[in-house]
Parts: sequence; C-alpha cells; structure tokens
Amino acid sequence: MKLLEDKIISDGQVVSSEILKVASFLNHQIDIELLDKMGEEFARLFKDKKVTKILTIEASGIAIACATARFFHVPVVFAKKNRSRNINDDVYCSDIFSFTHEETYHAIVTKKFLTKDDHVLIIDDFLANGAAIKGLIDIISQSGAEFVGAGIAIEKGFQAGGKELREKGYKIESLAIIESMSKDGITFRH
Ligand code: 5GP
Repeated sequence: MKLLEDKIISDGQVVSSEILKVASFLNHQIDIELLDKMGEEFARLFKDKKVTKILTIEASGIAIACATARFFHVPVVFAKKNRSRNINDDVYCSDIFSFTHEETYHAIVTKKFLTKDDHVLIIDDFLANGAAIKGLIDIISQSGAEFVGAGIAIEKGFQAGGKELREKGYKIESLAIIESMSKDGITFRH
C-alpha cells in the first residue's frame, strides 16, 4: 500500500537493522486518516471471507483492528497481555514470546467473546517472527472458531514469520513488506 510505504519512509525511524519505530503514526500517536485507509484496504483484501469477529492483541493492534472493523461491521476482541498465567477456566490462554521486549507473556481472551460459530480475522501492527500471530491462532483454535486469515500493517520480510505462516496455507496479507532496512534507507517487497 503506497500510502503506508510513503509514511514509513517519511516518518518511520530505523532503530536497528531489526526494529522499526512508527510511534508518530501507529504505535503512540495515531494517524486516523491513514488507519481509515488501511482498514478499507483490509476490507478489500478479505472481502471474499466471512468475518464475524476481528481479533488483535493489546495495545498497538487495537486501533488498526477498530479501523478495519468499521468496514466489516463486526466487534473487535483484543487479547490482554498478562505476566502471570490466569488460572480461571473462563479464559483461553496462549504463551507468546515478545520480539521487542524479549520475554514471554500470556495472551488471554475471555471465552464468551470467541465461540465455535465465529469466523475470525486477525489484525496486528507488525509481523516479525510470527509469535504473536501464532499465539492468536492458538487461541482461535482453542475456541473452535475458524481462522480466516491475518491482516498485518507492516511485515518485516527478512524475518521468518510471514514465510512460515504462508507455508502453512494461511492467508496473510501485509500492507507493507520491508525487504531490508538500515539507517541508509528502507526497501519494500512488491
Ligand atoms: P512477532 O511476534 O511476529 O515476532 O512480532 C510481532 C510483534 O512484535 C508485534 O505485535 C509488534 O508489537 C512487535 N514488533 C515486532 N517487530 C517490531 C518492530 O520492528 N517495531 C515495532 N514497533 N514493533 C515490533
């Protein structure tokens, strides 16, 4: 998506060869006009799918998921990040290793918000090694719902997650795929 690629070039900050900071429009301050266009694009990419719920993970996925849900007219459910495992049996729980914080947390979703009758689209801000998406897919499978695919704002194509998930046959659509990045610049895959 050209609009997002241009924004990454103009406002993104390459922190290291593996970390891109997009705090000024996605992760801290939020560009709502851009998010609206991203939601519209996800709606186009998944228009052939029956979607009854959008699943994301707090915090940065929520705004993008909401912008997308406006086009599908379905609720957004976000997984909460817990440090301690919630032993309630009214929740689904999956352990996720955080790429940016280098620690494992527990992603929790209350059972009544995902049921076997749901068709779930996952939306998230970044795809790196795929741990977050795999954890959310695990939660969907615990609920018996159908996973219809994942929409990602920014995929770092030089990390393994996207390739692995597509090889499993999942529909993964990323609005911008970074081929490589350094302080000298960013190149996108088309
Ligand atoms: P994964 O689980 O695919 O390894 O990493 C995805 C998660 O880590 C995303 O939910 C995102 O919050 C965070 N993340 C991964 N790479 C980056 C990055 O380069 N920049 C930022 N801001 N977050 C990232």
